[in-house]
Amino acid sequence: MSYFLDPCIPLGNIDGAWERIQKSLPYISLGNKNKLQIVVVGGGLAGASAAATLAEQGFPVKLITYNDSPRRAHSVAAQGGINAAKKIREDDCDGVNELFVDTVRGGDFRAREASCRRLAEISSSIIDQCVNQGVPFARDYDGLLSTRRFGGALVSRTFYARGQTGQQLLYGAYQSLMRQVGSRRVELLPRRDVIEFINLNGVIRGVVTRNLLNGQLEVFQAHAVILATGGYSNVYFLSTNSIKSNASAVWRAHKQGAFFANPSLTQIHPTCIPVGGEYQSKLTLMSESLRNDGRIWLPRRSHDIRDPSEISESERDYFLERLYPSYGNLVPRDVASRRAKELCDQGFGVGNDGRSVYLDLRDAIQKKGAQEIKAKYGNLIEMYERIVGEDPMTMPMRIYPAPHYTMGGLWVDYNLMSTLPGLFVLGEANCTVHGANRLGANALLQCLADGYFIGPCSIHSWLEGHTFSISSHEMDQACQDALENTKKRIDDLINVQGEIPVDIFHRALGEIMINRCGITRNESGLLAGLEEIKLLKQKFHHQVRIPIEINCPNPELEKALRVADFLELAQLMLSDALSRKESCGAHFREEYQTPEGETMRDDENYAHIAAWEYVPGSEPIKHLENLSFSLLKPNKRSYQ
Ligand SMILES: Cc1cc2nc3c(=O)[nH]c(=O)nc-3n(C[C@H](O)[C@H](O)[C@H](O)COP(=O)(O)OP(=O)(O)OC[C@H]3O[C@@H](n4cnc5c(N)ncnc54)[C@H](O)[C@@H]3O)c2cc1C
Repeated sequence: MSYFLDPCIPLGNIDGAWERIQKSLPYISLGNKNKLQIVVVGGGLAGASAAATLAEQGFPVKLITYNDSPRRAHSVAAQGGINAAKKIREDDCDGVNELFVDTVRGGDFRAREASCRRLAEISSSIIDQCVNQGVPFARDYDGLLSTRRFGGALVSRTFYARGQTGQQLLYGAYQSLMRQVGSRRVELLPRRDVIEFINLNGVIRGVVTRNLLNGQLEVFQAHAVILATGGYSNVYFLSTNSIKSNASAVWRAHKQGAFFANPSLTQIHPTCIPVGGEYQSKLTLMSESLRNDGRIWLPRRSHDIRDPSEISESERDYFLERLYPSYGNLVPRDVASRRAKELCDQGFGVGNDGRSVYLDLRDAIQKKGAQEIKAKYGNLIEMYERIVGEDPMTMPMRIYPAPHYTMGGLWVDYNLMSTLPGLFVLGEANCTVHGANRLGANALLQCLADGYFIGPCSIHSWLEGHTFSISSHEMDQACQDALENTKKRIDDLINVQGEIPVDIFHRALGEIMINRCGITRNESGLLAGLEEIKLLKQKFHHQVRIPIEINCPNPELEKALRVADFLELAQLMLSDALSRKESCGAHFREEYQTPEGETMRDDENYAHIAAWEYVPGSEPIKHLENLSFSLLKPNKRSYQ
C-alpha cells in the first residue's frame, strides 16, 4: 500500500522558518553530548563539514571514508563555483528571493519549496564561513569578492576560486576537520568501505565496513549515522564523477528501509570533453563557467567536415542564442544538453563521429584580450589542451553532454532524516532542493548548507530522545546479523568464479542506461531497458570473475559489490522514469513535449517527489510527497 509522506515542514510562513526552528532546538548538555557517538560516512564537502561542526559542538564523531584522505573526495573536482545570495556591491540586484526563485524554477517545480527557501537564506553565511576559514575566493582589484554568472540565472552570483572552487572549499572543511582530529573529537577512519547498516528494530545504529587494506569486516556502533556519500552518476559507467563514486551506501540503506526518491532524475551536463576512445573509464567536465565567455555553435550545413576556421560567420548557427535570446548560452543544463543532442542526431554535429558541438572563446579573446581569458579560465584551458591536444585559445573546444549529477537520492524530511530513524543524509546523496534539474553551482552550496548548518542542528532533536546506551544483548545480535549478511554477500560473489571481468558488466550497464534513460527517454525504450538489465544482472551473478583473495586489497571485489548495487539501482531508475508520465527538467519523456520541443509538465498528476520503498522479492512501492508552493506559483519554465 502506498501513502503520502510527511516532510515535517515547519508550520507557518516558510520565509524565515529555519530561523524559528533553530531557536526551538532542544538543549543537550556537554556531558550528554560526550556520550553520544555519531558516525559520519563520507569525507567530501558535506561529510567533512558536518563532522567538523558536530565535533566542535562537543559530539564524539567517527568519520569513515574509502579514500586515503578526505582531501581526495570527489568534491575536490568541482570547478566552476558556489552560488550565494550575498550582496557585495551597492548595485547588486540579487537577493534571497532571486536565488530561491531560480532554484525552484531551475528544478522545474519538482523540489520542496521550504527546503529551497532555507538554502537561499543560509547561502550568504556559507560564504562568510568559508572566507573566515581562508578559502581564496577570487577578488576584484579593490579586494571585494568577485562573482560570475552560471546557467539558469540572469544575475552574477557564483563565487569562485579560479577553476578549483571545490578543491579550495574542501581544503577549508578539511582544515576544520583536522583541528577536531587533533583535539581527538574526530576519529578518522580512511580506506573503509561501508557495505551494510546495523538495524535495530528499524532504527539505524551503526555501520559495517570492509577495510580495503586487509579485507577485515569491522563494526561501528552509533546513536546516529550521517550518510554523505555523494551521487550515483557512475551507474552510467562513463560520467564526470570520480571513478570510485558509487551508490553502494545509499542502496544498502534503501534495502534496509530508507526510501529512494526520484532516482531517474539525473543531470547530463552539456559541457564535457567528448568520449575519446573505447577504453576510456571517465569523462572530463569543462566548467559551465566557460559559457560566460564561450559561444556555442554548429555549422549551418549538416555533415560539414571543414576546419572551424574555414566556416564563416554567416555559416555558423549559434543555436542557443537563436532559440533563447535572453539566456543565450547560459540556459540551464537540461535545455543546453537536449538541444546539442538533437542537432547532433540530425547530422549537424562536429568531430570524427559527429557527436560534439563547438564552444568558442574567439569573440571573448578579441574583446577582452587573451590575457584576461587565460587568467579567468587558465587551468580549464590547460586541462583541455592536455587531454585533447588542441589549444582552445586558437581553436574552438569540442564538447558533448555527459552524465554528471544525480538529483535523486535518499528521501529526507526537512530535518534531513531518512525514512530510517537515526539515518541522516546530506549533500548529493539526498534528494531535497534540486527537483528535476540542478541549477549550476547549487550543489556545493547544498553540501555546505547541509554540512555546516542544517545537519548539525537538526540532529539535536533526534539525539535528545535517544540518549540511551547502545550496548545491549539486542544490539550485539543486530551487529552479528549485519556481519553475517555482509559475509554472505561477499562469499556469494566470490564463489561465482566466472570468466568475465567486472568492468565489462559495468560498461554494458552504462550503455543501456545512456541509451534508455539518458538525455531523452520514452516508454518503449524504458521497457526494453528493464529487460536488458534483467538479463545483464543474471549474467553478472553467473559469470563474473573475482579473485579469491579476501584478506588483502581486492579492487575487483570492491568493484563487483558496487556493480551489483548499480544493477539493482538501474532497474529502479528505469521504473521511476517509466512511472513519471510527464517531461520535467532533465527528465525529458519524448511522448510529453510541446510543438517547440520543450518539456511538457503535468502539475495536476506529477507535482510530487516519488519515494520508492524496497520490498524483498517483490516490486518496489511508490509513495508520494506532494509538493505545494506558497511563495512561488508553478508557471511555464521559459528561458526565451
Ligand atoms: C567534475 C565536476 C565538477 C563540478 N563542479 C561543480 C561546481 O562548480 N559547482 C557546484 O555547485 N557543483 C559542482 N559539482 C557537483 C559537486 O562537486 C558535488 O555534488 C559535490 O561535491 C558532492 O559532495 P558530497 O560531499 O555530497 O559527496 P562527495 O564529494 O562525492 O564525497 C563522497 C564521500 O563519501 C565517501 N564514500 C562514498 N561511498 C562510500 C562508502 N560506501 N563507504 C565509505 N565512504 C564512502 C567518499 O570516500 C567521499 O569521501 C561538480 C561535479 C563534478 C563531477
